[in-house]
Amino acid sequence: MTIRLSGGVADSAAIVVVGGGLAGLEVATALVEHGIDDVLLIEAGPGDDLTHIHLGLPQDGATETVFAPENDPYFRRPWESDSTHYTGISGLRRRLGGRSLYWHGVILPLEDWALRPPWWPSDVIDDLTKSWRGGASLYERVTAELLAWSSPTPAGASRLHRFGGQDFRSLPRACRHPSSDGRWEAYSPLTRWPTEDGVPRPPAGLRVRCDTEVLAVDVRAGAARGVLVRDTAGEVGTVTADAVVLCAGTVESTRLGIQALTSVGALAEPRLGGLADHIVQGFVVRLPGTAGAVPPLGSHYVPAHHSTRSYLRLDVHRTEYGDTLLDVRVTGEQLPNPDSVVECSGGPGLPWGTRVRTALLPEDRHLVTAQRDALSAFWRSLAGELRLPAAPLEFSEYGDPGRDNTRVLPSRTRSQTTGVPESWTSLLGTEDHEGGSLPLGGVLTSRQEFAELPRLYAAGPVVFPRLGAANPSLTALALSRRLAALLAAAV
Ligand SMILES: Cc1cc2nc3c(=O)[nH]c(=O)nc-3n(C[C@H](O)[C@H](O)[C@H](O)COP(=O)(O)OP(=O)(O)OC[C@H]3O[C@@H](n4cnc5c(N)ncnc54)[C@H](O)[C@@H]3O)c2cc1C
Repeated sequence: MTIRLSGGVADSAAIVVVGGGLAGLEVATALVEHGIDDVLLIEAGPGDDLTHIHLGLPQDGATETVFAPENDPYFRRPWESDSTHYTGISGLRRRLGGRSLYWHGVILPLEDWALRPPWWPSDVIDDLTKSWRGGASLYERVTAELLAWSSPTPAGASRLHRFGGQDFRSLPRACRHPSSDGRWEAYSPLTRWPTEDGVPRPPAGLRVRCDTEVLAVDVRAGAARGVLVRDTAGEVGTVTADAVVLCAGTVESTRLGIQALTSVGALAEPRLGGLADHIVQGFVVRLPGTAGAVPPLGSHYVPAHHSTRSYLRLDVHRTEYGDTLLDVRVTGEQLPNPDSVVECSGGPGLPWGTRVRTALLPEDRHLVTAQRDALSAFWRSLAGELRLPAAPLEFSEYGDPGRDNTRVLPSRTRSQTTGVPESWTSLLGTEDHEGGSLPLGGVLTSRQEFAELPRLYAAGPVVFPRLGAANPSLTALALSRRLAALLAAAV
């Protein structure tokens, strides 16, 4: 689908949504479902291809697109980093759909040891976990809807698989297989749009402007009045709006927030802390043949415990040579801290240059070690079960780009020696779970509005006061729907 600019760049709308990725599309689509009929979604990238990469490409090609982003024409990293973190594959996929066309659909609620006061506001916790507007909680509603979208026939109770001393359960994923060749797609709000010749079209009430970058929030008289935009021809204009919702991905939304907050004197320095991503480490190992004791093909997990702040995931694949490939990882929580920041250059030019700085707390360093111990124990146990020699897992210094998650690239695992694990450690930012720098109950009110800047809102993992170990998108989708309902009720 090609969605092009009509006329000049100047425009107006009741609500402007900045960024057409997972959160922005969910907010915009839910707004029109609530009857708001003048929503404008502005996306920096093109809207020509709305296909999830795992539906458009074979498995290996899709994996290469993620882990070798030089192959992805949509990959952009509009920030610099002062370390190896937030480099490499860390970045945006600048296209309508954003990372909703890349994600794996894992939907886990935040653990109650992370989703709690004083970190998260109590009203948000209640809406997510207890009841939303007198009915089921947001987690219950969105999970049920996504699982129904994935499979019209409800799955039975999932069986536990004991393996390597752990009890694995089936990992919930919002994925469906519309083709018979094994390709799949994860949920995108685009799949809720009406289609024309099989291609999604914005529902009535929603206009979409692609190839249009938001340079800044237009702040006047102490409130957001719209956005300043630039199209690909370099034409700049203002779009006026009653409310603006930032959904440009964590770092970009934070950059836009910093610019806006600085303009009203709400920030002493053009920077915000609290940026966090998951701490993820793992190993891949090829096993000969179908390796009997291994759980079935697919994704399995062991939920996170508060003592480890990490969950264990096991993906079982069949290789083109008929071998079994085990992809094992632990995903853990990086705690928010004031020294992990998004900071801007300031000055008259727009957009402001953006830099990311990261710091680990002692608790996070402890978690890195505990994860390595847990992975090593799991590997020893499963190697014992499979009667393999348990060569010790080797890890290098945290932040070493020479041993990062690109180890799972098919071009690498293909040449891996059978039975010998290759371990890896993700750089922060490369799990695409970054969030936390516009936290609810801090920079934002619990209604997702900037406390110091009325009519400006944000959605996506950027609003999480604390990440927990769970993948962020179930919570991001639930909060996007909550924000749309709050905005619709306020209009
Ligand atoms: C390979 C992969 C697998 C993943 N798997 C999972 C998973 O299984 N479970 C899970 O929970 N999460 C997963 N994620 C993470 C998830 O996709 C992200 O957390 C989520 O997409 C973030 O949503 P967002 O809307 O904040 O950002 P995005 O989806 O990145 O959307 C941001 C959009 O804003 C646009 N934009 C940026 N700047 C501007 C600007 N200045 N003006 C206009 N537009 C702008 C971008 O082009 C983009 O389209 C995965 C991510 C990847 C890459």
